[in-house]
Amino acid sequence: MSLQGDYDENNIFGKILRGEMPCVKVYEDEVALAFMDVFPQSEGHTLVIPKTAARNFLDFPQDEVGAYMERVQKVAKAVEKGLSPDGIIITQFNGAPAGQTVFHLHFHIIPKMENGGLRPHAVSGPVDAAELELLAVKIRNAFN
Ligand code: 5GP
Repeated sequence: MSLQGDYDENNIFGKILRGEMPCVKVYEDEVALAFMDVFPQSEGHTLVIPKTAARNFLDFPQDEVGAYMERVQKVAKAVEKGLSPDGIIITQFNGAPAGQTVFHLHFHIIPKMENGGLRPHAVSGPVDAAELELLAVKIRNAFN
């Protein structure tokens, strides 16, 4: 039991992890999966989810935090190298009152241009896969 309930394996990111729903992938290993947000707040908005099931950051096993956060940083560096934004917002919401809409832990990596605005959270779009793929390929190519 966590903020507002138990983990529901039928959440959309659980389905993406099991391959039951598509995503535009940028990175995957044994710890984490990263893919493009379909309702992006800016061009290149990427999500990094752990393979371990957890509703939010508070639920996540402490001994797995380090490995997961390494992946968050790794993906953020690839976004930086691949898309060359002026800044990057890294954020994460715990519980619906805090803004969480999908209840499998994820960190948002949101590129920010100096004079570019941000679209509202989780409502704009959706952007089609072909358009996301143009950004994803630049991020994938930026991993060392
Ligand atoms: P949260 O509101 O839980 O912090 O973030 C959930 C994020 O998932 C939002 O930014 C939203 O745009 C994104 N999202 C929701 N449904 C889907 C989906 O089916 N595929 C992808 N790739 N992103 C999704």
